[in-house]
Amino acid sequence: MDVFVNAAVSADGKLSSRRREQIAISGSEDFDRMDRLRASADGVMVGVGTVLADDPSLTVKTEDRRVQRLRNGRSGNPARIVADSRARTPPDAAILDGDAETYVLVADAAPAERRETLVEAGATLIEAGDERVDLAGGLEKLEAAGIDRLMVEGGGELIYSLFAADLVEELTLFVGSLLIGGSEAPTLVDGEGFVEQFPQLDLQSVERMDDGVVLSYDVE
Ligand code: NAP
Repeated sequence: MDVFVNAAVSADGKLSSRRREQIAISGSEDFDRMDRLRASADGVMVGVGTVLADDPSLTVKTEDRRVQRLRNGRSGNPARIVADSRARTPPDAAILDGDAETYVLVADAAPAERRETLVEAGATLIEAGDERVDLAGGLEKLEAAGIDRLMVEGGGELIYSLFAADLVEELTLFVGSLLIGGSEAPTLVDGEGFVEQFPQLDLQSVERMDDGVVLSYDVE
C-alpha cells in the first residue's frame, strides 16, 4: 500500500491552536491541490481526535473529479477511514453521512455497544490491536479491502504513530505564513516524539502557493 501524508501547518509547525479548532492555514489554491490528492486516493484517513475536533466529511469537493472517478470505474469519493480504538466516533459525524464508504479501525477494547451504534450508522468496522489500533495490521486489512493508495490528513497523534511504525512513503506540507504558537497546540508530529532515530526526509520539491509554500518529501 502507498501511504502519503498531506497536512497544512503554520510557519511554526502547528496543525491548529491550543483550542484545537480548525484554522484556515492555507488558501483556495491549496484546497484545490488537496482535493486533487483526495480524488487520486482510494482512502482518506484521520485519527478520531480530528473527527471530534473538526467533524470533516473528507469527500472530494469538485464534481468533475467525482465524475471522472466514476468513469474510471471507481466510487465517486474515496473511502473514509478513522483510527478509533474505542469507537468514540459520534454516529452523527459527517464522515458517516453516506456519501462514501466509511471504515472505522477499532481495537479489541472497543465497547460492543458503541461498535453496534457505529455499524447502525453505516460504518464498516475493522478490528486491529488490543488496547490501541495496530496501524500496520489495520492497513493490511484495508489493503485486502482494495485500498492501495491511502492519503492521511492528520492529526499529529496519528501521523506520529504512522511514522513510528515506518508506514509512510511521502509527506506533503503546506506551510502557511502565520504563527500559531502554544506548547499545547497540536503539531504535525505529536505522540511521544522521537529521541534517537529520527525519520529522515528527502526533499523533492518546493512550490510557492497562496501565501505559503508546498514542500514535498519522500520518506527515506
Ligand atoms: P488525531 O491524530 O486526529 O487522533 C488521535 C487519536 O487517534 C488518538 O487520541 C487515538 O484515540 C486515535 N488512535 C487510534 N489508534 C491510534 C494509533 N495507533 N496512534 C495514534 N492515535 C491513534 O488527533 P490530534 O493529534 O489531537 O489532532 C487533532 C488536531 O489536528 C485538531 O486540532 C485538528 O484541527 C488538527 N488537524 C489539522 C490538520 C491540518 O492539516 N492543519 C489536519 C488534521 C487535523 P483512541 O486511543 O481513542 O483511539
